[in-house]
Amino acid sequence: MLSTKNVKITNLYKERIELLALHYPYNDKEHTLVGNIQLIDVMGTLTSTITKLFNNLPSYTKVNVCKNMLCPNYMTVQKYPVLSLCAFDGYINVQEEIEKYFLTEEVDCIEYPSRRKHTFNAKSHTLIELVSLPKELEASTSYADITEICNVPQNYVKPVLWDLEEIPKILIIRTKEYYLRSAIVFVSGDRSGLRVSTGHYKSIVWRDNDRWEVYDDLKETATNLHGKKQNVEFLIYTI
Ligand SMILES: [Zn+2]
Repeated sequence: MLSTKNVKITNLYKERIELLALHYPYNDKEHTLVGNIQLIDVMGTLTSTITKLFNNLPSYTKVNVCKNMLCPNYMTVQKYPVLSLCAFDGYINVQEEIEKYFLTEEVDCIEYPSRRKHTFNAKSHTLIELVSLPKELEASTSYADITEICNVPQNYVKPVLWDLEEIPKILIIRTKEYYLRSAIVFVSGDRSGLRVSTGHYKSIVWRDNDRWEVYDDLKETATNLHGKKQNVEFLIYTI
């Protein structure tokens, strides 16, 4: 239940509900309690929530064009709200992985005897999900396979324990500079190694004065950071 003692916080919660309610079912039998109290079930990973909220504000698009203009499937554009990168044993070089990710690639067209070109276009913000995998998987797979692997077992992987100072404050995507705004960390008492477990997200915001500020909705105000090693699940960059 929301506390009504602090008007500012109550309003913040109200705004949050209004934002989320657009994307989750409610106002049906299953989500209505006595007294017409509405339930909104927003349980899920950060990535699943962000995918809903940012569906029309993608981090990047993939333009897929056939080299033959007569192709019945000449061009498609796919939008991606979140960019998933793999970290092996909790280690990742974000800049290097981004460069690999944004490489133009060519594949055979299945509609027509021709080749297709995939071009990735970064938008004004980039939301990066970090998926941690065991080191063994890195050696046994090519980069294309790794992208596939990232998509499958993300619910069963160990956290990326990362020293916040090692997160790049600036990323270069296609010659454009993107600035780190926040690292979102997952705090959980669970030691099972499963990613989806009971826990709580906090946003650790990187400020222009080179300081970290912790935003935790269980606290009334922003707080200072204690401990640089964090279970980083998500990075937010904008131009
Ligand atoms: Zn084609």
